[in-house]
Amino acid sequence: MDLQQLESLSRRLDPAPEARAELMRAVMAYAEAFHEGLAEAPAFKLLERPGAGLAEAPPGEEGRPVGAVLELLREQVDQPGAHGASGRHFAFIPPSTQIAGALGDFLAALTNKYAGYHFAGPGAVRMENLVLAWMAREFGFPAGTHGNLAAGGSLAHLVGICAAREAAGFKAADTGRVCVYLSDQAHHCVQKALRVAGLGEAKVRQIPTDARFRLRPDRLEAAIQADLAAGLRPWLLAPTAGTTNSGAVDPLPDCAELAQRHGLWLHTDGAYGAFFALCAEGRARLAGMEAADSLVADPHKGLFAPMGTGAVLVRHLEPLRRAHAYAADYLPAPPEDLDELSPTEVTLEFSKHARALRLWLPLQLHGIAPFRAALEEKLRLAELAWDGLQRLPDLEPVAAPQLSVMAFRFLPPAGDADAFNQRILESLQREGRVFLSGTRLRGAFCLRLAVLALRTHRAEVEEALTCLARAHEGALGA
Ligand SMILES: *Cc1c(COP(=O)(O)O)cnc(C)c1O
Repeated sequence: MDLQQLESLSRRLDPAPEARAELMRAVMAYAEAFHEGLAEAPAFKLLERPGAGLAEAPPGEEGRPVGAVLELLREQVDQPGAHGASGRHFAFIPPSTQIAGALGDFLAALTNKYAGYHFAGPGAVRMENLVLAWMAREFGFPAGTHGNLAAGGSLAHLVGICAAREAAGFKAADTGRVCVYLSDQAHHCVQKALRVAGLGEAKVRQIPTDARFRLRPDRLEAAIQADLAAGLRPWLLAPTAGTTNSGAVDPLPDCAELAQRHGLWLHTDGAYGAFFALCAEGRARLAGMEAADSLVADPHKGLFAPMGTGAVLVRHLEPLRRAHAYAADYLPAPPEDLDELSPTEVTLEFSKHARALRLWLPLQLHGIAPFRAALEEKLRLAELAWDGLQRLPDLEPVAAPQLSVMAFRFLPPAGDADAFNQRILESLQREGRVFLSGTRLRGAFCLRLAVLALRTHRAEVEEALTCLARAHEGALGA
């Protein structure tokens, strides 16, 4: 091909206004149909060979019409598995999307501003820092708290743990002596982050929990004392502000006191729970969270942002920068007097998109009040769900909601309770109208109900209770 032919072919990647408008119309129509379908769409869909049609339509040398491509997306990606935006999603920690967040993401991709380095994208950098500063204020952290908007809680944990490692000044040879404390209910990603941060050999003490699955401060203190007596080095305390398993909030004030007394870095996991602090009721239940040296909070959970949004706040800039900052010849040096931190100085990411737009745009358009209301609503709905559950026959309460996650099981007339509850869960998932998940608590298989989807309101909770009652009756008859 000559240069002109190459240009004409490559220009297909940058459609002319008319073709571009047609593409946008098709995508907007898809978005509208997606929203209109929400009321009827299953919360969970089991398919024979989920997504198999994608493999049958690999990209060819020539493109396909937009309608056919969007149909592939609808059938092969949007339909199978858990719905990403349903108000009847009560499994794990339910994800949400709000349209302004999705459009923020679209605009970030469209304008493609660089949010890694102040010199190239000062506005995008400032936006990320402003969103983080807003979170810090809401959580009661002091001015000057820094942080990062990462691609989820797991990565946010890694950033925080690297800062904690730098603050302690460990060398590789120290890792075998270093001790980490978390509850036996902590999320696995904390240990994963330790391993990735080069601390896989650290001694991780899984502290036993009380009857409500909260870390026991007396057992924590005993573990720290035992490690000190053995000549080891207590380092990191990682309590959870709302566990994934049962929604337990560890005793944060006790943890803060012990961390202070023993010089531990307090790294609090609020991935699920932290944003409840936006409403007064939640703030009361999370008292003590503000004492953390680093805190993880997931906007893709508690702020209903698109998936892939996790935040970490760190009180101490110096170790955060020491873990991540780098200079290179091909980059301009940051001006000395610049008080605007560049995200590349505090995370592993370099070519960073304007992730903050998916938070900034909805916060600007709607204000903070609807977020506070939605979170208070979820707390109330969780109480409503828990009361409703108590009225179901043969129900054994296991974990009452401390925020918006609860666990329970049905006691079978005879036979294995685990298998009985597994059958109830499977029948719910086959039916697909509501989506719940299960877990093990003290060895027993339990059902979990997590209220956090944006579109979960009273009607959806009532429907979940109806579906559960029906599934339970079905299991009795089977
Ligand atoms: C979801 C969650 C995580 C992990 O965060 P991701 O955003 O899924 O990576 C960590 N801790 C708790 C308590 C969580 O609920």
